Amino acid sequence: MLVTRFAPSPTGRLHKGHAFSALTAWQAAREAGGRFLLRIEDIDPIRCRPEFEDAILEDLAWLGIDWDGPVRRQSDHLGDYAAAIDDLRARGLLYRCFRTRKDILDAIGDAPHGALEAARPGPHPADEEASLLAQGRPFAWRLSLDRAREVLGEAAWSSLSFVEEGAGPDGETGRIPARPETAGDVVLARKDAAVAYHLACVHDDALQGVTHVIRGQDLFEATHIQVLIQTLMGWPIPTYRHHRLLTGPDGRRYAKRDQSVTLAEMRAAGVTAADLRAELAP
Ligand code: GLU
Repeated sequence: MLVTRFAPSPTGRLHKGHAFSALTAWQAAREAGGRFLLRIEDIDPIRCRPEFEDAILEDLAWLGIDWDGPVRRQSDHLGDYAAAIDDLRARGLLYRCFRTRKDILDAIGDAPHGALEAARPGPHPADEEASLLAQGRPFAWRLSLDRAREVLGEAAWSSLSFVEEGAGPDGETGRIPARPETAGDVVLARKDAAVAYHLACVHDDALQGVTHVIRGQDLFEATHIQVLIQTLMGWPIPTYRHHRLLTGPDGRRYAKRDQSVTLAEMRAAGVTAADLRAELAP
């Protein structure tokens, strides 16, 4: 049975792009006689706000989207993610990183754009780490790609892949080799939050039995690193369907900063859910 989900972060009001994503996943589930789950990804204590969660539920109800089973709110399950992080740590797959964004940028120097995102700063020398720890300095836990490769072995590392039933931003479809290197040594537990997006997301996809991840192409790159985490944890790799991103009249994709296109404002301006659903028909 097809099981999919909509997993918004309550960091702002939903806009048309979210509506398109939610409708695409919901419709796929309903057409397949499957299940559609709603998950609130509220692990970022600074950016997430309860009123935005309420607003998400209100906007989805207005759109006519229903979901199966209870809503899963990630902040209620921090212990689950901590256990997964402990497991990875016990296998030597994570290292402490005390560096700031600026430290990493300085170390990269004038490397090409995107180098920060793909950074692999590596563990601190043992004496430096001990001293930073003793000073009580905050640190994140990063996933070591070198160690992951060692743990999996060359054959498994080079056969990491996923099935794309939609398309990536460059039309990638079918079985896609996963390239976790492009994400670098990602942070899985942040200085300011117990867990980072990649880990919480794949943990829940596995726990909730998600068979199909249906989401926007903006998350296509994230899939590469998520497949590695799933493999390291022995979790199933769902099928992916990345959908196109909606663009506004100016040709730019919808984003939270474009407050004029929130669903709430459209509603206030007299747009009906039927109008919007017709416009966004996936
Ligand atoms: N919470 C993520 C976001 O709002 C989406 C995660 C996902 O669909 O995998 O961008």
